[in-house]
Amino acid sequence: MAEFSRESLQQLDAAHHLHPFTDSGALHQKGARVIERGEGAYLWDLDGHRLLDGMAGLWCVNLGYGRQELIAAANAQLQQLPYYNLFFQTTHPPAAKLAATLAEILPGDLKHLFFTGSGSECNDTVVRMVRHFWAEQGRPERTVIISRHNAYHGSTLAGASLGGMKPMHRQGGLPLPDIVHIDQPYHFGEGQGVDPHAFGLERAQQLEQKILELGPERVAAFIGEPVQGAGGVIIPPDSYWPEIQRICKKYDILLVADEVICGFGRTGHWFASEHFGIVPDLLCMAKGITSGYIPLGAVAVSGRVANTLIAGGEFFHGFTYSGHPVACAVAQANIAVMQKEHIVERVHEDIGPYLQQRWASLGDHPLVGETRGLGLVAALELVADKTSLTRFPEEAGAGLVCREHSLDSGLIMRAVGDTMIISPPLIITREQVDELIEKARCALDLTL
Ligand code: PLP
Repeated sequence: MAEFSRESLQQLDAAHHLHPFTDSGALHQKGARVIERGEGAYLWDLDGHRLLDGMAGLWCVNLGYGRQELIAAANAQLQQLPYYNLFFQTTHPPAAKLAATLAEILPGDLKHLFFTGSGSECNDTVVRMVRHFWAEQGRPERTVIISRHNAYHGSTLAGASLGGMKPMHRQGGLPLPDIVHIDQPYHFGEGQGVDPHAFGLERAQQLEQKILELGPERVAAFIGEPVQGAGGVIIPPDSYWPEIQRICKKYDILLVADEVICGFGRTGHWFASEHFGIVPDLLCMAKGITSGYIPLGAVAVSGRVANTLIAGGEFFHGFTYSGHPVACAVAQANIAVMQKEHIVERVHEDIGPYLQQRWASLGDHPLVGETRGLGLVAALELVADKTSLTRFPEEAGAGLVCREHSLDSGLIMRAVGDTMIISPPLIITREQVDELIEKARCALDLTL
């Protein structure tokens, strides 16, 4: 790469590369930041600036950059068998072993795994799998899947349809038929002045209302992220998930937990379903499964669903890269490191509480209306008036301004509207948490 200057790379990028989730016109004017390398919790751009990665890439680089165990596992598997498929009555050691390892660490009776290449592919799989399940149960009319406004379930047609992001629906004529949305449990944004417990119950009970409105005999499943990530780190009140589980059980509706962000230790548990006390019928995972080193996703399936699928003949669904052997080998090494270094316990007992305590200290800043978090994921709400919790006008772009100041001070934070969010690598140290807080405060001061 040394022969390419930053400017020449930016020119090539602008000339030939269309970026995901990007206003290309605006990017071309400014030029993309070129990230060149990473080590631990830090990244370096081509100009030599060091950035503390407060987002673990895209909520995924849980073990940080440069982990030799993961690199060695990929290397060894590339030598041994770089690719083979899982179609046509074959398997390979990395897929079979990883399925068994995941079955051990997953909660409940989620003992069967369907591998995919990404979180979006997991959710496409969910749509087809739950409808196939009900058809095999002799209930083909059970096709409707209920999700939430402002949820994020990926970018494929089914993923974006399950998601509740209006701008995504507008581009491409979504959602697909038989996918409907209820309100999210976003207390700060939509429940001001209401007791959080009552608000959580009210939002969960919208599920029951929707089921009754549609007719329970038509509803196949409910899907939700235990903590909505891309929507702005929305942590539901404690009353929410148990009520959702109760309603799903009452109407025999499958509960799907999308743990693409929450899984693999992010909330201080292997899976956030454990934190919220729910036992899903299907659970989606990706991102942290390989610490983002290589793409992989998986849908975990309960005994009831798996047995129906197994008895039901061929499931006409799968991907060339379902359970790619190199990705499975990296996932296996990733889980082994997490176990050896007690990463989940550390997030639960030590670094998670430390980050939350330090993050909460930002609550005294004049621009901060609320801080919240769980484990190693957190958010704060920017407000124009701290007493009345009045938000900035949208056109002020306060979140984006804060994000720019944060980058200038050497910290990657993300802005979802005026909600600033972080999700750092799980290996972050206390000193690095202190650095993160200091830089976040500096960004807030400059946003004033
Ligand atoms: N589900 C959730 C909860 C996510 O946060 C994401 C991505 O951020 C996805 C699904 C989509 O995953 P991918 O980008 O790997 O397709």
